[in-house]
Amino acid sequence: MKNYMDGIVDLTGDTYLNPSWPGHSRNENIIKTIAVHHDAALRPHDYDSIARYRSEAQGHYARLGPGLQYHYKIDNTGVIFKIRPHNVFLWHAGDDYGNVNGIAICLDGYFHPDANQVPTREQYEALQQLLDWLCTKNPQFPADQDDVFPHRHYSATACCGNTLVPFVDAYRVNSGTVAVPNVAYDWPEFQPQVNPTPTPPPAPTTEIHDGLYRVFLNGKQIAAYAKLTGAQTKVRDNPGAIIKYHGVEVPYEVPVPPPTPITPVEPTPTPTIPPVEPEKPSTPTEAAGEGTKETIRTALIAGFSYLVSLGLNYLTGLPETQSTVILTLVLKGIDKYVHENPNIKLKGISPL
Ligand SMILES: [Zn+2]
Repeated sequence: MKNYMDGIVDLTGDTYLNPSWPGHSRNENIIKTIAVHHDAALRPHDYDSIARYRSEAQGHYARLGPGLQYHYKIDNTGVIFKIRPHNVFLWHAGDDYGNVNGIAICLDGYFHPDANQVPTREQYEALQQLLDWLCTKNPQFPADQDDVFPHRHYSATACCGNTLVPFVDAYRVNSGTVAVPNVAYDWPEFQPQVNPTPTPPPAPTTEIHDGLYRVFLNGKQIAAYAKLTGAQTKVRDNPGAIIKYHGVEVPYEVPVPPPTPITPVEPTPTPTIPPVEPEKPSTPTEAAGEGTKETIRTALIAGFSYLVSLGLNYLTGLPETQSTVILTLVLKGIDKYVHENPNIKLKGISPL
């Protein structure tokens, strides 16, 4: 529960709400009772509390006396406003004892038919804390927890309304030990978030964290990482390894198409090839043509040698084979010479 006493707003410096009032000062030791009021005006969810009090003070100036005739106000958010000092007595109870010897606390809202508003949970809690403080921490005046009454106790009025009276009576009868009615907070967002906040922790499946992505291979931990990506890399490099986060295995598809790391290796051989290549292209292109020429040339030489050898054989009487060998050697020698000296042209041979 919020400590509303820590947030008390002191408006005693506001001379409209708290003007000096000669003749109304008192010694605190005559404070013997505490009266609880409602202001009998509808309380919206969102409003300017101080503007509301100034407006009420205007009515009090006209009917009762200078300034707002309550020592404390409590708005819907449970903020306690200190309006008047204890050593000033006010016109609020419709009764001399209540006025002169009392402290007045007023809650914003209309807690009686026809409105039948209910104090907010903040108002109940703040009222209880304020009453406890007044009754137990202010030994300078005798008012105690069994001196707390609804306004209607002092004079004929509905104040502080049927929905609030039971709480005030219970507070007095039980000397402050009373449970706050189970009504909703008007502004829950202003309440200390005790339980809701600690829930977020369970968010382990996500990425980053506390170095607890552990990698195991064959049941043995081989690494631990702060980020899941680190663990995944480790698994990729160690087939069969698994990742655990806080003891729970994190699903990971084993090596996907890995070739990517291999590509960078290729560039190395490539540079060696270029120097070789330039030579190859020149040779092959010519070699192709040259090979064909050689074949034709060899065939022609063979054919020509055979024809000439027949003639030689006829003229010399040498065996046909010897004539052929001789002529072949001669013609090959000529051909070789021609081949080594491209500029020489021998009719019938060089065009090849
Ligand atoms: Zn009243």
